[in-house]
Amino acid sequence: MLVFKKEPSEYVRYSTCILGFFSSSFLSAHQRLFLMAGRMETMEYEDGLKILEELTTNAHQIQERVLEDILKRNAGTEYLRGFLNGQADKQLFKRNVPIVTYEDLKPYIDRIANGEPSDILLADPITQFFLSTGTSGGQPKLIPSTAESFEQRMLEPTLEDLVMKKHFDGLDKGKTMCLFFVKPEIETPSGLMAKFFTTSYFQSNSFKNGSAKICTSPIDTILCLDNKQSMYCQLLIGLLQRDDVVRIESIFVSVFARSIKFLIDYWKDLCSNIRTGCLSDWITDPGCKNAVSLILTGPDPELADSIEHICDHKSWEGIIKKLWPNAKHISSIITGSMSQYISLLESYCGGIPLVSPLYASSEATFGINLKPLSKPFDVSYTFLSNMAYFEFLPVNKASREKAQELQFNNTVSEKASIEMTKENGNVEPVDLTNVKIGQCYEVVVTTMAGLYRYKVGDILKATGFYNNTPQFQFVERQNVVLSIDLDKTSEADLLKAITNAKLFLDPLGFVLTLCSSYTDTSSTPGRYVLFWELRMKESNDFPKLDPRIMEQCCSIVEESFDFTYKSLRKSNIIAPLQIRMVKHGTFDALMDFYVSKGASINQYKTPSCIKSEEAIKILNAGVIGKFFSPKTSF
Ligand code: AMP
Repeated sequence: MLVFKKEPSEYVRYSTCILGFFSSSFLSAHQRLFLMAGRMETMEYEDGLKILEELTTNAHQIQERVLEDILKRNAGTEYLRGFLNGQADKQLFKRNVPIVTYEDLKPYIDRIANGEPSDILLADPITQFFLSTGTSGGQPKLIPSTAESFEQRMLEPTLEDLVMKKHFDGLDKGKTMCLFFVKPEIETPSGLMAKFFTTSYFQSNSFKNGSAKICTSPIDTILCLDNKQSMYCQLLIGLLQRDDVVRIESIFVSVFARSIKFLIDYWKDLCSNIRTGCLSDWITDPGCKNAVSLILTGPDPELADSIEHICDHKSWEGIIKKLWPNAKHISSIITGSMSQYISLLESYCGGIPLVSPLYASSEATFGINLKPLSKPFDVSYTFLSNMAYFEFLPVNKASREKAQELQFNNTVSEKASIEMTKENGNVEPVDLTNVKIGQCYEVVVTTMAGLYRYKVGDILKATGFYNNTPQFQFVERQNVVLSIDLDKTSEADLLKAITNAKLFLDPLGFVLTLCSSYTDTSSTPGRYVLFWELRMKESNDFPKLDPRIMEQCCSIVEESFDFTYKSLRKSNIIAPLQIRMVKHGTFDALMDFYVSKGASINQYKTPSCIKSEEAIKILNAGVIGKFFSPKTSF
């Protein structure tokens, strides 16, 4: 069913860049309108599949049109004028416009956030900023968004839904149990609001008139700013409607893991509410109370008994399948840093497939997973060619890693390290359709909303093509070593934090000789764990450990981390950081282990972050004291 919320002519306004191209293609007038609008709250299945074919078959032509349109509109802005002299010329763009990071655009973005007109950076008015979880100087990045670019992105959930329906029968016959949350917005001095992309999406009419209609969670429970009340009510309603649930969805799988932990803590209360028909007193949010009252309409002891029967066990193996027996799949991003949750979740799922549906960021929507049944480690995302103009900087991973390793190893010449980094710095980017299978790339985007040749910071590997569009596996976030949820702590962030703790320890006569770290997600919420080896300044003796001093070290480290870490930690989405003190010789055993695995003693450096379970076991075997960060003061 096609539902026009506006006059069709208004839809045509959107993405005029691809109008010319699509008017000559095989799509019907209605399909074209939807594609251009990127807005498909409701649409026919066949229409959607045709659009997907169009986007992937004619990717090259669409990309050219996208760039043409961006340049036509924006060549006269203060930023681009400096490189293009006002000419909307694609070749000039590639020759003259530099590939940049957020720091290069930040002065322009900050000026707009402080009240200057948007047209210093882009012709269309900025309507909101997205808060990226990536940070700049400890603060979240502000990513500009316009009305049109936001609408354009609404195409992705619709296409994602189509792909799911193609692979799983019966999704139309039930509801999605969603675990969706919002965060408070921040007002910039210009009056423009800054919020997370997902918050903006859940507040949008596209969501309210589309996916929200098949969610178990009423919109007021999703929009409740108190995440604890929100989670309780969403789980309660999901349990009340357990037989109707055909899929379960969260954006990132870390949220799903957290929700199960919450269920472990609260299932008795939830059962009691279902048994009595009365909502717990601590749910005070009026939107949540009202939404629940429309569904929890009376006592249901039978349902409470069956849930209790399932939950009242020591082992929660397969709990999801038992509680929501008709769920066909769980949809949640599980690649990249989220892959640490795979084994935990597989144990809870009871065989329900885990589907990683999309790859997106505050800056742009990149791609969707056309093979939802792929195993988590095999997932590739097919890029959507109308979402932005994409370029790819080839990355020689082996040489980059080597360069990093050398930088940490003073015994090898710095020159060699610089050479290798340079080798990777001089490469030219390639277009979307020219990537080579097997090659790793750093993704660069030019968007309708004021980002020009902007490095997102993600490394991807081209794994294949669907029609003429490449598919990519997510390899890694550049420079991130620790991540539990949306936090991204780089090696540099970690070293800075540890240096601050060292400054505190120094006057006390302690020397931190060796350290390493890992993210412990064996329980939820997960935490950062640091392994430390200390000695006394004056001797090689092991110091007497004073818990207050060690706790203070934990706090100093946490306080040194960025805004995202601190806000997640404050809301208990990340558990208190832990320092595990190890006895002398433990790091030698770690080195022996790596050497036995083939590392060169000459070039060995203690890894700042450890992924290998065997290596973590070795460090744990040497632990003689564990200290937690006390209550947060930030
Ligand atoms: P944000 O801008 O805060 O939404 O964060 C976006 C970042 O999350 C991306 O640049 C990626 O590093 C990461 N991300 C998003 N989608 C995926 C995915 N499917 N797999 C792995 N990482 C992802």
